[in-house]
Amino acid sequence: SLFSVALQEKQNSMTKKLPSDSVINLDHGDPKMFEPYWQKMGDKCTVVISGWQSLSYFSDITNLCWFLEPELVEEIRRLHHLVANAEIEGHYIVVGTGSTQLFQAALYALSSPDSAEPINVVSAVPYYSSYQAVTDFLRSGLYRWAGDAYKYKGDQPYIELVTSPNNPDGFIREAVINGSGGKLIHDLAYYWPHYTPITTPADHDLMLFTVSKCTGHAGSRIGWALVKDKEVAKKMTKFIELNTIGVSKDSQLRAAKILKAVSDSCRQDYDNFFDYGRGLMAKRWERLRSVIGRNGLFSLPEYPMEFCNFFGELTEAHPAFAWLKSEEEESKDTESFLRAHKILTRSGKHFGVDTTYLRISMLDREETFDLLLQRLSNMSSKGRENG
Ligand code: PMP
Repeated sequence: SLFSVALQEKQNSMTKKLPSDSVINLDHGDPKMFEPYWQKMGDKCTVVISGWQSLSYFSDITNLCWFLEPELVEEIRRLHHLVANAEIEGHYIVVGTGSTQLFQAALYALSSPDSAEPINVVSAVPYYSSYQAVTDFLRSGLYRWAGDAYKYKGDQPYIELVTSPNNPDGFIREAVINGSGGKLIHDLAYYWPHYTPITTPADHDLMLFTVSKCTGHAGSRIGWALVKDKEVAKKMTKFIELNTIGVSKDSQLRAAKILKAVSDSCRQDYDNFFDYGRGLMAKRWERLRSVIGRNGLFSLPEYPMEFCNFFGELTEAHPAFAWLKSEEEESKDTESFLRAHKILTRSGKHFGVDTTYLRISMLDREETFDLLLQRLSNMSSKGRENG
């Protein structure tokens, strides 16, 4: 479309050329690929905060989450209504410094201070690598990491983390344990139409979202939780009060403005953010699949076509990460193998599986992605030369 062409030009003028032998870091899911879109939006999202504003700790003392800015509430509601990816009615909103803080607030809120043993925290493999690290970091007496949910046998209470679409592999997921004493946290960071078909409004007890993956503004550190149970929402708010006495108002106001721009863009065809994002991701996946198909060293997951209610058509998932599996015995430690080709990725071992798997971010700048594809293609030709 015209818009994509305009954006490509913007992008070409923006980026300094990467030296062709640079190390490319695709270990983190750092969402820089939306930069040209936001550049194109110009001053639409510029936020001016005067010296006299945002001084108070408090945002709205009538709200259960007293440090939540009313403008952000309004834009979160509006966007969920528009995209229909989550049921917002009957849920309290709690804002956090990224969904990472909210995850910790949720662990605190779902555990019991009186229980003799820490509550077990599990997630089905392959699970998002930070969960384990964050859960065990402070050696809490309230909760502890207990690994793969598929292997969970105990009759003790547990917390199961369900990431859908999943990081690292992009699949839609449901809870895997069929127990009674379980509490669920649904991490829906990637449940947006540029990554996956929106098939139903999610309506779980505790859902986590973040602007990091929705709009790409990871640096603003704003996430939100939708929480059914009032006591859980209160405890999460208490955790954040004791942890950081609230969440940056400056960031909340900026996030509100960005979310507003996204919702506004959905009313028109020309610069619809999700349409743009889906196009970009689709193109990248198509190119990646073609290179991977040709080099024969790896395989990629396949995703089903599903009807996306947002776009009103059948669409395919274009996940934020590529989850590669080595097809070769000799490159079993795939992370080291790619590091030798100056591509930094994250090995399967961080996600509870083995080193034949690895995760590559699909969200970096275009020129970095181009270099990735170039190197992946060269690997195959070298392989052939060596017989
Ligand atoms: N959940 C998942 C599944 C993620 O992939 C990420 C980011 N990599 C996060 C949460 C963290 O997001 P935030 O920046 O909001 O802390």
